[in-house]
Amino acid sequence: MSHADLTIVGAGLAGLTAAVLAARAGLSVTLWTGREAGGRARTDVVDGFHLNHGAHALYDAGVAARTWRELGLDLSGGAPSFTFWAAHDGKRTRLPVDAVSLARSGLLGVVDKARFAGILTRMGGLADSVAPELTWGAWRREQAADGTTLAALLDALARLSTFIADPAPVRAAVLMRQMGLSGGGVTYLHGGWQRVVDQLLDLARSEGVTVIAENALGVEAVGAGFRVRGRQVDCTSDAVCIAAGARTTARLVDRPAPELVPVRACALDLGLSAVPDPSVPFVLDLDTPRYLSVHSLVADLAAPGGHVLHAIGYGDHTRESLEAFVDRFQPGFREHVVAARFRPAMVVQQRAPRVDAPEVPVQLAPGLFQVGDHVGEGCLSDAAVQSAVDLIARLQDTTAWRHAG
Ligand SMILES: Cc1cc2nc3c(=O)[nH]c(=O)nc-3n(C[C@H](O)[C@H](O)[C@H](O)COP(=O)(O)OP(=O)(O)OC[C@H]3O[C@@H](n4cnc5c(N)ncnc54)[C@H](O)[C@@H]3O)c2cc1C
Repeated sequence: MSHADLTIVGAGLAGLTAAVLAARAGLSVTLWTGREAGGRARTDVVDGFHLNHGAHALYDAGVAARTWRELGLDLSGGAPSFTFWAAHDGKRTRLPVDAVSLARSGLLGVVDKARFAGILTRMGGLADSVAPELTWGAWRREQAADGTTLAALLDALARLSTFIADPAPVRAAVLMRQMGLSGGGVTYLHGGWQRVVDQLLDLARSEGVTVIAENALGVEAVGAGFRVRGRQVDCTSDAVCIAAGARTTARLVDRPAPELVPVRACALDLGLSAVPDPSVPFVLDLDTPRYLSVHSLVADLAAPGGHVLHAIGYGDHTRESLEAFVDRFQPGFREHVVAARFRPAMVVQQRAPRVDAPEVPVQLAPGLFQVGDHVGEGCLSDAAVQSAVDLIARLQDTTAWRHAG
């Protein structure tokens, strides 16, 4: 039976990042990947089209991009610098995302344009000035009354940054910080997010991490450390970090799972032989929580000559509703479908950062840790990676986990 300083169970973005950071910090690490690494960041290649599990964009100024860049990962891709459109009241108009598009947009009147411009430029900084218990709903109502176009626009942009269908009960500061990150730009990754997964796994192996390609079935305290049990293999370690989701964590350590409200969305992932209307590459619906984006216009994702279009319905939607939305802005798209899949009720983030969400700490007990996008505050993969960074900071503070060599 092998022994390591640290065992990590689960190889999504959180577990993989934690494994590489721990190995770089000098710890010996065993990583349980299950049958396949990557979790929700996997990309499937279908008939030559690289389909992420729903639309994925990397926030260039976020902790995930920063950490992976520092680890030397290739994060090449394209910035969606095309025209953004908004759908509102049966019309399509320019979506204001910066000074130029705001000036050209017919969405807002003069007074609301000025108000929106002020909010947009202050968004990231506002996070530090609002009370931690303030909800997005309360803050947004101070800026714009329910039912107004400005209110619909602010809520839709909050959704776009976080995938949260109803942002009202969410902590305003978390949403503002995430929306502020959008100002730092996003990247649609060439080849999809699988490239991040593959590079992290390669890096883990080259740093000496022992990889066990099966599911862990149980974690038990043994003496001063832990034993992790699988069907074929067992291992022991001084510390364990579970990166396999909140429910699996609870099952593995035999504790009740925290009551979390997840962020859910439906995804329609399309590989198309052509895009019927290339002038409409992106539409954010202000009236129904959904959007579409043609990722392959800026990232290498499609079979030659083709395109990858992702449509997202925040919360619950039917396939028909998303297809009707795509058909409205890409009329006749069905004739060009080469690959298509609809995924309902996907967990985008395990813990919506609502004001009433219970805190989920990195440390569960001495020597027992958890990471993932349900841990700490923050959004999406940045929450997952932040928890991995926090874990390593804790391990480095605790001399007991230092590698003897
Ligand atoms: C539709 C959609 C769109 C998204 N868009 C974005 C976006 O634009 N930007 C962004 O930053 N993020 C986005 N995300 C979120 C991002 O994908 C997740 O936050 C991130 O992948 C979560 O990583 P994780 O490691 O916390 O969890 P997971 O990816 O769930 O990883 C958990 C891993 O543990 C493994 N596991 C489970 N049980 C065991 C066991 N017993 N033993 C061993 N392994 C086990 C699982 O197989 C899995 O590989 C999106 C997610 C979805 C679904």
